[in-house]
Order: sequence, then structure tokens, then C-alpha cells
Amino acid sequence: MKIAVVGTGYVGLVTGTCFAETGNDVTCVDIDVTKINKLTNGEVTIYEPGLEKLFLRNLKEERIHFTTDLSVAVKDAVIIFLALPTPPGEDGSADLKYVLGVANDLGKIIKPGDYKVIVDKSTVPVGTAEKVKDAILKSAGQVEDLEGAFDVVSNPEFLREGVAVEDFMKPDRVVIGTNSERARKLMSDLYAPFVRQGNPVIFMDERSAELTKYAANSFLAAKISFMNEIARLCELLDADVDMVRRGIGSDDRIGKRFLFPGIGYGGSCFPKDVQALVKSANDVKYDFKILSAVMDVNEKQKTYLIPGIKKYFNNELKGKKFALWGLAFKPNTDDIREAPALYIIDALIKEGARVSVFDPEAMNNVKKLLGDKIEYTESQYATLTNADALIIATEWNEFRTPDFSKIATSLKNKVIFDGRNLFDLAAMRELGFYYQSVGRAVVFK
Ligand code: NAD
Repeated sequence: MKIAVVGTGYVGLVTGTCFAETGNDVTCVDIDVTKINKLTNGEVTIYEPGLEKLFLRNLKEERIHFTTDLSVAVKDAVIIFLALPTPPGEDGSADLKYVLGVANDLGKIIKPGDYKVIVDKSTVPVGTAEKVKDAILKSAGQVEDLEGAFDVVSNPEFLREGVAVEDFMKPDRVVIGTNSERARKLMSDLYAPFVRQGNPVIFMDERSAELTKYAANSFLAAKISFMNEIARLCELLDADVDMVRRGIGSDDRIGKRFLFPGIGYGGSCFPKDVQALVKSANDVKYDFKILSAVMDVNEKQKTYLIPGIKKYFNNELKGKKFALWGLAFKPNTDDIREAPALYIIDALIKEGARVSVFDPEAMNNVKKLLGDKIEYTESQYATLTNADALIIATEWNEFRTPDFSKIATSLKNKVIFDGRNLFDLAAMRELGFYYQSVGRAVVFK
């Protein structure tokens, strides 16, 4: 099948590559000329495990192409995916300017007679499929001619950065919102190779599909904020959140996943999607109380380690140097959007401290954002030289079993603030570290 993917970021590139992998002829389009040039020349523009191999194979087989020209990309395409940004607008609602801008352009390109399915893969509020349809018809200017020449389908994406290729190739479920039989058939055929093991393709109306994505992300964000509040309570009541987590996670109704406390959720999805759902609810005069609390808890959680750090150093952080491990909002990605590490860095700099950082993949993105405000090192251990304490912000696997003797000898003080609960309390006690984590007892020498 001939497919176009509009927007070649995290979702668009993975989507395009995976559809090419199952034999489709894919053209990805983006307005970012540098990005398109790099991709055309075989350079993958994001870090995502497993993506490069798949990408290069399909580029070589000429099943995936790149262009900056929307009309070239969609000319022969039967299905056009919109994988465009939907950032938060000033009032918290999802800003649809990219999606509707492209819809507007499509209205000028699509011709009567060549049937196309336009798919919203971006996370968009309820009612967007109708808005996209209206925008296309309006810009075409010949409403009667284009009626029936296209359908707009909602197909929200559930991939997780860090395991995006795996998630896309073997999705737990595929949600497709459409009332058009013709579009339904094409989408079924396209996704058939991805659900051979029997995972469901769930068909529904467009509006329910749009809401499904927000409901999923908001539920997961609520699970995280809930555990972060339990962690705070554990500290106040002298309980251990690790024990509580295990105790509740073995209940099938609760489940073991997403119960780890930490320094809050970040990334390009949870923060903006929870906010956008609250706004959608407000628009129809519904006060979504739980989600407002979820956002509030998360906001405070991002700088959760700071009071403990200040207390340890008697409120005197000026001139102190901190080593920070982990910048990405989660492991196995270079994405730093809304990363808790950035909030920690900001708080430390405001206190007059210096910060030396290391992340296996996200350093370049942080350099672009923060420049020489902080120091970048080549390895996790190089951050430690002359540092007063180590802070851990992302749970990369390589941070889980570090060389503690190197840490002890490089740091000025044997002090670790761990926002991801990577280490065992008894082991840290044995090693003689001052160790503060989340929802567990503070280990003193
Ligand atoms: P992204 O910022 O990585 O990529 C968006 C791309 O669109 C960029 O390359 C940008 O240059 C391009 N673009 C902007 N305007 C364009 C235009 N007019 N024509 C062509 N290209 C244009 O964003 P993303 O993380 O891939 O997210 C895309 C959508 O998918 C969002 O709605 C997001 O909420 C949703 N989503 C993201 C994830 C995720 O994990 N990143 C998961 C599920 C859903």
C-alpha cells in the first residue's frame, strides 16, 4: 500500500519505518529540511532502540522515502498519517495549528476521484477528526466535489519511547475510530501483519477513539502520582514504599507495572495530555478533580529531592558542585521534553550551585537547551570529580550497578540523592553512604 506520513518525529519516523518493514511503500514528509536531508542520507535523527537497523534496511530496499514537499508525499498515497505535534496552548488545551494547517494544505492537494484516508495519529482532543474534515473541505473550496473523496480516521498511537519499535510491531491493541466501511477495510488490511498473534484491533467511532488515548495516558499518570503520594506518606509514617509496592502489585486488579515512585513523570505526552484532558473537561463544564490533583502532585514531585539536598548542606548550596546522572525523561531515549532532570538543574543553579551531567543519549539535546550553564562529561564517573554529591534523575540500566568504590573516592562526600530508587538500602548502609531515595528511610553512615 502507498502511505504518506506527515511529521517525521518520534511517532512519524517509527510509524513510517514499521509500515515500510511490512512491505508498504512509505513517504515521510517534514518541514524540517535538515531532518529530511539527514534521513535521506541514512542518518537516524532520534535515538530509539532497534530503529536504526530497521530504518537502514527499508531505506536500502527503497520502501521508505523522504521529502519536504507535502504534495509529492501524498500524490499516490492511499493512507495519509498525520503524526504532527500537538503541544499545549496557553490555556492548556492541545494546540491544533499544525494538524489543521496540514489539513488546510491537503484540501488544496486532494482531487475528487482519488479516495484517500487521512489518519489522525497525533494525540488530539475529541472532535478533531470532524475539524480536520471541515478544514479540508473548506480549503478545497468545492465542497460537493470533495465529499466522499476522503475519510478522516482517528488512530491514536500508544507506543512508548524507548521501546517504540517493539510497541509498534507488536501493539497490545490498535484503536481505530471510523464509521466508514471503506476506511475500516483499508486500516484493517494495513494493520493485519501487526496483530497476527491475536491482539485486538478495536473499532469505534472517531470521538471515542480520540478520548481513549487521553484516558489511557491520564490513567497511567494518575497511577504514578498516586504512588508518589504513597511514597511521601511512607516517609512520614516510617514505612517502606518498596514493600508497599510489592504488597499491592501482586493483586491482579492493580498490577505490578507503573507502581515505582520517583521524581515524577515527564516527556512529551503525559504532562500535556493530562492538562489537555482537564481543559477538554472544563470546556464542557466538568471539573475533573482527580486529574487536577495528579498534575499538582507531579509538579511538586519533580523537585522532590531539592529540600533534602538543601537540608543536608544546611541550606548552603552556593558554590557546591553536584554530579547528575540522567537527563532524559526516562531511560532508552534521548527525549528531554519535560524531563525532571531539567527542573532539578534549574533549582540547583538558582541556589548558586554548579552541575556536572552525564546521560548516555540525551547530552546533545540538553546542550542545545542549556549550553554552557552546566558542565558535560564523557562518562558517568567523570561527573563526580570534586562534586559534593551525586544525584540520580533517570533510571538508565548502566546506573543500576555502578562501581561504588569509584563513586566514594571521586566525590568529596559519600552522598547520593536518588530520584529513582536504584539501590538497596542495606547495601548502601554497608558501603557507608549517606543515601536518600523516595519513600524509603534515609541511610546515614
Ligand atoms: P515530534 O515533535 O517528535 O515530531 C513532530 C514532527 O512534525 C517534527 O519533525 C516537525 O518538524 C514536524 N512538523 C511540524 N509541522 C509540520 C508540517 N506542517 N508538515 C510536516 N511536518 C511538520 O512529535 P512526536 O513525539 O512524534 O509526537 C507527534 C504526535 O504524536 C503528538 O500529538 C504526540 O502527542 C503523539 N504521540 C507521541 C508519542 C511519543 O512517545 N512521542 C506517543 C504517542 C503519541
